[in-house]
Amino acid sequence: MIVIYFLLLVFFLSFVGFLILPIGFLGLALTSLVDAPMQLYYMIAHPEVRKNHALEHATIHVLEQELPVKLSGISYPNGFLVQGIGDPFIVAQAAEVAKQRLLNGEHNLAVHPRCGTTSVVTSLVFAILFIVFSIIFGLFSWINLILSLILASLLGSVLSPIVQKYITTDWHVQDIELLQAEPIIRGWSSQGVFVHTKRSDVKWSIS
Ligand SMILES: [Zn+2]
Repeated sequence: MIVIYFLLLVFFLSFVGFLILPIGFLGLALTSLVDAPMQLYYMIAHPEVRKNHALEHATIHVLEQELPVKLSGISYPNGFLVQGIGDPFIVAQAAEVAKQRLLNGEHNLAVHPRCGTTSVVTSLVFAILFIVFSIIFGLFSWINLILSLILASLLGSVLSPIVQKYITTDWHVQDIELLQAEPIIRGWSSQGVFVHTKRSDVKWSIS
């Protein structure tokens, strides 16, 4: 008797899962469809964040080439945070080198394979594919979900460097001044080093 109840429970749960899962993914797709373009638009509307983002990536590249570390970072209008390292002198030095190398033509330093742009692009591609495939195959089809997930992860990593290059970073950092590098400590643990930056005043000239 217990076995029958157990089988009924399994059957009921799989039926509910079958209904809830596609609806959950549809909700996720619709949210990404609004959220991802808004995040990309934020970068387009804030050139100083795009430049700090290029400097953040380039600094991380320089540090990872010199030290056995795997770092991450976050960019803001007034600077960028490098996480995974605590020494402000090393980070400040790397940031100077990064700026020079970017301006000397190493524009590929502005693109990083572990950038958050990849997850934004992947979620946007997933949203578009999931909605298109839902129309073609029906919302409750597994082909829809599996195809969208596989294609989104493949296209996401292919498109991310292009989106980084043209939307989320800008290597024209000649007008970005590197100020002090500040270690960020919360409690007993280091959160990384924040490199403060300032956008130099625009100098007008008439010739
Ligand atoms: Zn990034």
